[in-house]
Amino acid sequence: MKSNGNSGHRDSAADRNEQANRGNPVNKDDQAQLKARMDLVKHKIMVLSGKGGVGKSTVAANIAVALAMEGKQVGILDVDFHGPSIPKLLHLEGQHLGVGENEMIPVEYVHGIKVMSLGFLMENPDSAVIWRGPLKIGVIKQLLSEVRWGELDYLVIDFPPGTGDEPLSVAQFLPNADGAVIVTTPQDLSLSDVRKSIDFCRKLNMKVIGVIENMSGMVCPHCGQVVDVFKKGGGQLMAGEMGVPFLGRIPLDPQIVEASDEGVPFVYHYNKSEAAKAFSKAVVPLLALEDGDTKPEATLTTLTKKEDDMKSIKIAVPVVNGLLSAHFGHCETFALVNVDTEAKTILNTEELPAPPHEPGLLPRWLHEKGADLIIAGGMGSRAQGLFEENGIRVIIGAPTDTPEAIVKSYLDGALVTGDNICDH
Ligand code: ADP
Repeated sequence: MKSNGNSGHRDSAADRNEQANRGNPVNKDDQAQLKARMDLVKHKIMVLSGKGGVGKSTVAANIAVALAMEGKQVGILDVDFHGPSIPKLLHLEGQHLGVGENEMIPVEYVHGIKVMSLGFLMENPDSAVIWRGPLKIGVIKQLLSEVRWGELDYLVIDFPPGTGDEPLSVAQFLPNADGAVIVTTPQDLSLSDVRKSIDFCRKLNMKVIGVIENMSGMVCPHCGQVVDVFKKGGGQLMAGEMGVPFLGRIPLDPQIVEASDEGVPFVYHYNKSEAAKAFSKAVVPLLALEDGDTKPEATLTTLTKKEDDMKSIKIAVPVVNGLLSAHFGHCETFALVNVDTEAKTILNTEELPAPPHEPGLLPRWLHEKGADLIIAGGMGSRAQGLFEENGIRVIIGAPTDTPEAIVKSYLDGALVTGDNICDH
């Protein structure tokens, strides 16, 4: 039996979007109340995952604490109707909400984090409740509009896994939400699910802030080093392929389980651990939202699946004085670096004098030289388009360094790119 009461064919997010709109008339007063509350919240971040058990709630909770540790006012909203796990993760089970005049008062956690979970509203969070779709939508609206969130810098919203009524209705209620953080594990099955989450965001015009690869490698309980027990890097590859930012890898760390058993915030109590450092790094693009910068400040760039499959590719880097030339058009030479994408090694580097400046010549010339990819500092969007037309992918915003160092960090999945240094 389906737990939501909607019937009929619901094969796309857009169809469901339309259905939910029809089935959910929000009257003007409700809308005004929702707007008044949510206008006080600067940034709304949705945390999604394709399937359960990938650590989505753990990531949501630790993102919230990491933001609060930066001095931000933070709220966590848990809208998982079928297994609200935030109270358990934060040791807030059995807490009761305060009640004000026509409003609910959230539970306070460390660093003044305001927590609201469906778990606080259920008599027994472990009992199976069958929620019909329209009822869920009504409850979600109340959680946004009838909770005294106050002024917040960030509201982190944790959802059930998948692309059901919950994220859909929040996306509708909060059309100006900043976007979604998608949590995955490195395994293939979870990755195919995460593609669906990205697709869902795209259909709803919801920005994907980035993908976090959780349970990636394991922290050795003896030496504290990260050991790669299973495959890693799948989430990063997939993010590169789908053109969404990658926010980092969180290793499996027994202390994360210990912290949640003890009800202490992991990122705070174990802040020296690799996993905590990875959480702190992952929130950097979220902190950048504060400056009105909706783009992540820095993006990790990595091999695409296609490049990985090609076994060897040629990467062109524009060079001046032996280093990457920030101005693409001003380079003296091109380093054409031939790499083995399987072994992640550089096979050889050719140094080619740049051809004369003639419109349309460079893309043809680099194509003839066999370049598959250009890593540059800055490049105008028209030029980028011309290279793409010639089958050459372009990465911009690379730092000034030797071509070999840039290519090596690209192969290692560690190339950090920033803004388009010179956009003309
Ligand atoms: P989800 O919300 O995706 O269902 P949870 O956040 O509830 O997943 O995590 C499931 C379990 O995995 C929890 O017991 C949690 O403590 C554990 N967990 C999550 N991430 C990690 C990690 N990086 N290292 C160790 N344990 C983890």
